[in-house]
Amino acid sequence: MNDFDPYTLAAHFGGAESTARPIAPPIYQSSTFWSPDADEFFAMATQPRHAGFYTRYGNPTVRQFEEAVAGLEGAEAALGFASGMAATTAAIMSLTGQGGHVVGQTALYAGVNGFLRNIAPRFGIEVAFFAQGDLDAFARALKPQTRLVVLESPSNPLLGVSDIARLAAQTKAVSQAVVLIDNTIATPINQRPLSLGVDLVMHSATKSLGGHADLVGGVLAGSEALIETIWQTAHLLGGTLDPFAAWLALRGVRTLAMRVERHNRTAQVLAERLERHPKIAAVHYPGLRSHPQHALAAAQMSPGFGGLMSFEVDGGLAAAQTVLANLRVAHRSASFGSFSSLAVHPAAMWAGTMTESQMREIALPPGLIRFGVGFEDPDVIAGDIEQALAAL
Ligand SMILES: *Cc1c(COP(=O)(O)O)cnc(C)c1O
Repeated sequence: MNDFDPYTLAAHFGGAESTARPIAPPIYQSSTFWSPDADEFFAMATQPRHAGFYTRYGNPTVRQFEEAVAGLEGAEAALGFASGMAATTAAIMSLTGQGGHVVGQTALYAGVNGFLRNIAPRFGIEVAFFAQGDLDAFARALKPQTRLVVLESPSNPLLGVSDIARLAAQTKAVSQAVVLIDNTIATPINQRPLSLGVDLVMHSATKSLGGHADLVGGVLAGSEALIETIWQTAHLLGGTLDPFAAWLALRGVRTLAMRVERHNRTAQVLAERLERHPKIAAVHYPGLRSHPQHALAAAQMSPGFGGLMSFEVDGGLAAAQTVLANLRVAHRSASFGSFSSLAVHPAAMWAGTMTESQMREIALPPGLIRFGVGFEDPDVIAGDIEQALAAL
């Protein structure tokens, strides 16, 4: 090789395999992979989910992240995506289609809600919605030909809780539908939906899995067969998780359990304290005894209830804006599950993804503030909210 010209040399540096055994895995920041012979190349090209052929099909670093999530969720397999939305939309597009019937909660992440209401119908996908917690409405929405059920628990931003085991069993009794749940808010530390009869778990890795507000990613976890089915469509849709983001997400997963434990503790203390505040009309957190589905949450979530809550102030939109404007420690920011506390005003943030009438239908209180706790001292976080409330 040394006899070659600089152009050829530069093109072929660095192919040697290393015998080093790193504790932290290397990043396979490569878009494509080579093969020592033509037969193996053909085999690689035609094998589903090969982790070392072409990165849109699979990548060793992405696979490590997928295996970590599959392990945490108790799943056979997982598939990484460029974002949580890429994961959910790939599930919808691969499991349904023209004439396909989907049942979804009215309380779903705004992006998923917007997709099901405004984009899915363009592809001939029919969607029936039911109010979270209304088992009769769910039974009415479900049809023998339903292909996909989309759940989220706890849900964003009102932290409603779905009876996961019952909804899954009800689905299986009347249809072959795949039951998908968005487990982003609970995290696999607090809730393992596959053990409750769900088929497919989705996470926005942008939130707690990544945990450091430095990546955008998503993942689906389920049976090998289901993940392969989804991959067949997903690798053509192209919302592939980048190896660097996968590496960061894997790094985040290393400390997920201890981060979630702290979020659980801080959120519980904060929710109990805010509930007693005279200027707060309601606190929504499944760990509160006052939460209408607290017993159900306690039965299906353990050891805690996550780091996300929301609370309502009297005075609607303007009052919520005043509180947000006066926060000094918490950041005014979308997202949650990070190191610093992040607060948003959902009624303002979601105006872009849903129409006004759609927002009325999901009954988003205008004075609602969603709050994702960080790792700050719980007293500091509570003090920050209390001094912001004093401006009302
Ligand atoms: C953020 C979020 C999503 C979407 O994830 P992205 O990574 O932003 O695409 C979906 N569901 C929930 C519950 C979320 O919080």
